[in-house]
Amino acid sequence: MSTVAERAQHAASLAPAFGVYVHVPFCPSKCPYCDFNTYVGLEPLAPAYLHALVCEAEMWKSRHELAEAGSYFIGGGTPTMLDEHLVASTLKDLVSIFGAAEDCEVTVEANPETCDASRLAFLREAGVNRLSIGGQSFSNNVLQLLGRRHSAEATRRAVREARAAGFDNVSLDLIFGMPGETDAEWNRSLIEAVALEPDHISCYALTIESGTAFGADVAAGRMPSPDDDVQAVRYETALDVLSAAGYRHYEISNWGLPSRHNLIYWTQGSYAGLGAGAHSHVDGVRSWNRKNPRAYAESPTAMREGEERLDDRERAVEWLQLRLRLVDGIDLNEASKRMGRDLRPAAEALGGIVSIDGDLMTLTRRGLLIENEVAIRLTA
Ligand code: SF4
Repeated sequence: MSTVAERAQHAASLAPAFGVYVHVPFCPSKCPYCDFNTYVGLEPLAPAYLHALVCEAEMWKSRHELAEAGSYFIGGGTPTMLDEHLVASTLKDLVSIFGAAEDCEVTVEANPETCDASRLAFLREAGVNRLSIGGQSFSNNVLQLLGRRHSAEATRRAVREARAAGFDNVSLDLIFGMPGETDAEWNRSLIEAVALEPDHISCYALTIESGTAFGADVAAGRMPSPDDDVQAVRYETALDVLSAAGYRHYEISNWGLPSRHNLIYWTQGSYAGLGAGAHSHVDGVRSWNRKNPRAYAESPTAMREGEERLDDRERAVEWLQLRLRLVDGIDLNEASKRMGRDLRPAAEALGGIVSIDGDLMTLTRRGLLIENEVAIRLTA
């Protein structure tokens, strides 16, 4: 029988001591809901930009004592739209700087339409061992509403190509709650995703961000906001379908074989973020780069825009907010120690939203829907 502390640590213990995030700011088109730091038509900058990533990596390595990297996450952006030889040689250079633990997880994000067999096989051969595919939906109608350029069939093909290329760790991203999507379409997306047997599935509620095309459409009344109640029902459908299919729910939005890299974020671990607009957390300092990819390509070591060191209380609050996302739960003793006060009375007042078993506090099904609210009430 495992102890409370061990149960609360289960997924968290898979986080590597140090990871590297690589931001690739290029995309073939801009999705109308996306507020990531990505650009269309900037590909000619790619060789200089990738070279700059290596310069920034050398700067990190020269200034900090860093553990050997246990994960690399090459995301953005659409890394798979770039020449795979360039991506592979950049990865090789980064590994020569940061090292790679024996069980190092190396993820590349991919759009289905860029997943051709030879490119994937080359990346696999170059050491990439996890592919994260942005499928988003298996309804062509919803894909169109989301402004995606690929079809459901392209996602099915991408997963098949990834397997054929030797990837035994494939993740699929899905988005739910697009206005115009029906319950049946979301249900079918989940069932089709499961049928492809990816090792990991992420399900995110569509959010409307200002500065995006959808943000402008909603502000101008051309498009309704996603309906909170509908999104809650869709999320609960995901809980049911994915658990019935045997996917372990380990984080609010994630099921299956945990992303070790993302666990670094959820456990306040250390990572260097390379690239335009990338964020880092090293030696207890959070820092972030300016967003302009051209400026980054010219002077990657002069791009830091800001940094902050959280004080003890801020760090404890952040720990609680992040740890609540991990479905394994929180050891109330540890949480109380970090917060400097007994959290049990506040937790007990959240009956129906959290469940307490001895010292282990977990979110109930209802609590999963309002995790932010739970964190606020516990830390108020
Ligand atoms: S492909 Fe991904 S990163 Fe690129 S614009 Fe669309 S959502 Fe954003």
